[in-house]
Amino acid sequence: MAEKATKYIFVTGGVLSGLGKGITAASIGKVLKARGFKVNLQKCDPYLNVDAGTLNPREHGECFVTKDGAETDLDLGHYERFLDQELTQSSSIMSGRIFTKVIEDERNGMHQGDTIQIIPHVTNAIQDAVQEAGKGYDVHIVEIGGTVGDYESLAFVEAIREFGLRVGRENCAYVHVVYLPYLSVSHETKTKPAQSAVRDLRGLGITPDILVARSERPAPESAKKKLSLFCGVDESAVALLPNAQTIYEVPLTLLQAGIDDAICKKLGITADVAQMGDWESLVSLAKKQHNTKVTVGVVAKYMDNADTYMSVFEALRHAAWHQDSDVEIKWIDAEELGKTGNTAELESVDGIVVPGGFGNRGVEGKIKAAIYALKNKKPYLGLCLGMQVMVIGAARNAGIDDANSTEFSADTKNPVIHTMEDQKGKENTGGTMRLGDYPCKITTGSKSEALYGDSDIVERHRHRYEANNAYREQYESWGIKAVGVSPDGELVEIIEGIDHPFLVASQFHPEFKSRPNRPHPMFNGFIGALVAK
Ligand code: GLN
Repeated sequence: MAEKATKYIFVTGGVLSGLGKGITAASIGKVLKARGFKVNLQKCDPYLNVDAGTLNPREHGECFVTKDGAETDLDLGHYERFLDQELTQSSSIMSGRIFTKVIEDERNGMHQGDTIQIIPHVTNAIQDAVQEAGKGYDVHIVEIGGTVGDYESLAFVEAIREFGLRVGRENCAYVHVVYLPYLSVSHETKTKPAQSAVRDLRGLGITPDILVARSERPAPESAKKKLSLFCGVDESAVALLPNAQTIYEVPLTLLQAGIDDAICKKLGITADVAQMGDWESLVSLAKKQHNTKVTVGVVAKYMDNADTYMSVFEALRHAAWHQDSDVEIKWIDAEELGKTGNTAELESVDGIVVPGGFGNRGVEGKIKAAIYALKNKKPYLGLCLGMQVMVIGAARNAGIDDANSTEFSADTKNPVIHTMEDQKGKENTGGTMRLGDYPCKITTGSKSEALYGDSDIVERHRHRYEANNAYREQYESWGIKAVGVSPDGELVEIIEGIDHPFLVASQFHPEFKSRPNRPHPMFNGFIGALVAK
């Protein structure tokens, strides 16, 4: 029997960026998965970077890491959290990766004298990557980054237009996410920019099948009729999507609007009704008035963009909801703390998180926060760099004043954190990190083992530096212990505080595996310690 053809859904954006296209794509995926389809998601980013590893998180938000070690756009994090499914490198393509492939093929003589052009060579390479990622799935959803009309994303838009020819238009649905501004002077929701955005898309050869209209406040139902008439999209295929109290509500809103039916109809597929009972309970849990509230101080250097720590914040919220608590996140400026040493802000919060990070800036503040948490028995969760600064802080607190990481002081006499032997000399280049899933063995009887309920775990990594084994024997005299190590015992993966209410820090990034319906054990433990106080 011939294999069932994969159906494709392309999600583009118009009017402006930042509309939550990623959440929309993830939500469509969630709803279709709940209807029994096998779903994959993929993000196409128009930057010339090869991956997100070198992108500035202040501008682009967090770099999400997949199990196979791909450094990707943060939307992959939404996809994983909504689908509750682990994705891979094939779910993330950036222009740089596509261009590199096309140019390498040319250099390798694979095009035999052809003139290499955006159309068809680049657009074909994009289509190949889309088709490859869709293999074996019932539905493959592809989000195109940026706004239609951007110079940079033109090749992607052209590629998805051509894709309709490649696999048959009946196998493709085009979803356009637009924006409806609200004019407070006339109390009106306006559809004109959305109409223009649809015209832009049509001008590039794509007629949208589905419209998702984002707005800050609820738009009147009449907006649907208007959008349908002026944009040539069935009224039943228009969804109004006002800002939600929680992003996890979006699949429910799309379901209510019947967008899943519109998509199934367009793609000629049938399925049972969506099984969303668990998700509904989750959304109620997220939205309900919680019993308690805890405050978490996040000691960080990027103070102006919550996207930078997206998965960390999500993981904190997941754990809090499941313990009937709200969580208030307070930014603590690492640079400022480094300069002043003023611990008032650290005192004012219930617990401290030091998230991942690279480079010198702000690191002295993070070390001070670690020392403060260790000495004052303040609950502390360290994530990657957060573990490294705890090791440094504990050593300094024990009198080794110049303890440091070779990342921050190349010639320190006490490199308690250093580079692995095989990475020496490659410190500042791309692609030299320990990336993706690695196993860890947890000591029996440790807090971490109790939290995980297991002593064999696998977690995601993204770092270059490691705890220096020459100092491991001293840990206990510093007030910490290594309770998680790589299976060969060589690499420290988790440390805990001794006689401390909650001090757990990991070399890996647990935040990437937290799910709204299944909070991560380490975050559960941390929030639990704050709620119990
Ligand atoms: N900069 C540190 C390292 O490379 C920590 C990295 C991180 O926090 N992701 O090891």
